[in-house]
Amino acid sequence: MKSISDKLGEERTTLAALTEGLNKLETKLTADRAHLAQTEKTKGECQLEVRNMTNQIEHSREKLNRSRTERESNAAQREMEELRKLLKDREDDVQKLAGEADGVHAQITTTEAQAQVIRGELAAQKDGIESKMAELEKQKSGKESPRDVLAKRIPPVLYRRYEQLRGKRVYAVTRTTDGTCKACNMGLPPQMFHKLRREPTIDQCPSCNRIIYYVAPAAANDGKASKEEG
Ligand SMILES: [Zn+2]
Repeated sequence: MKSISDKLGEERTTLAALTEGLNKLETKLTADRAHLAQTEKTKGECQLEVRNMTNQIEHSREKLNRSRTERESNAAQREMEELRKLLKDREDDVQKLAGEADGVHAQITTTEAQAQVIRGELAAQKDGIESKMAELEKQKSGKESPRDVLAKRIPPVLYRRYEQLRGKRVYAVTRTTDGTCKACNMGLPPQMFHKLRREPTIDQCPSCNRIIYYVAPAAANDGKASKEEG
């Protein structure tokens, strides 16, 4: 069986590969986005030229209509033909650039989706590594954390409740010595207090929902018990 540090090494390798893969995708995205921006800019310039040429053609047409000699008429005619050719070229350019922009845009969408998948993978790997690191630390120190000890001692339902509370409150666990909750100062139902005192057990304060346990007056005074509230 592989040791935890071997497995950790493997996961780190995967993590490094994923990070490298993500970096490559990010680099590609940056390049593609720059390419797209440049293409759109050039397309915009071409579109402006198309508009200008269309205006010029209109201008030539007016000249043609106003021409009084054949020479004037021919000159205006040639100008219009020349402008139409140029206009056609520019319109082709706009088409080409629009197609190119669509292609780059589709590529960016694909790359972004790939990057998103890798980011999810990375997040999952990091979680795995973090929990394995915690396990390694535990093995190194040769003992379980107070939280793990607590987790084994209390019923799963309560432990889940504790985990939920831990996210919401600074102190998820509280004590009672005299029948009132140390956290919210509300009195506990007498039956609950008797049970807590009689058979070392854990319950929930009905007022603040914190997990509550009984601490004998002497123990409560030595200050050590408060450590468990973290
Ligand atoms: Zn309470």
